[in-house]
Amino acid sequence: MPAYDDQNIFAKILRGEIPNVTVYEDDDTLCFMDIFPRTDGHCLVIPKTPCRNMLDATPEQLAACMKTVNKVANAAMKAFDADGITLFQFNEGAGGQEVFHLHFHIHPRHEGLGMRPPG
Ligand code: C5P
Repeated sequence: MPAYDDQNIFAKILRGEIPNVTVYEDDDTLCFMDIFPRTDGHCLVIPKTPCRNMLDATPEQLAACMKTVNKVANAAMKAFDADGITLFQFNEGAGGQEVFHLHFHIHPRHEGLGMRPPG
């Protein structure tokens, strides 16, 4: 697996080099809105430390991300009056990953409503 590249777009977001719409932030993680939302409320949770994807993540990075996913997903259930949450996470190109900094997609879902196609 290739090494972490700090020129990826989420590393630039973490350094403040490009803007984002922040949903939640703590010492270890950032959650921000996806620019091509596939459902209303589609947002991404990332660790603040370098990590290419789940395959090279430490237990601490995974635990911190999951803690934030849990908080944001519960808040999104209320904020979007959602019926459920879909959580996506992709690893390497063959696994559907396009941005090579670990991230978890949170999708609020509603009964009978599909997801929009990827942007
Ligand atoms: O497939 P993967 O999960 O790696 O896709 C990256 C995601 O990051 C896409 O959902 C895309 O819309 C999102 N993205 C973003 N802001 C950017 C670039 C990509 O939210 N500046």
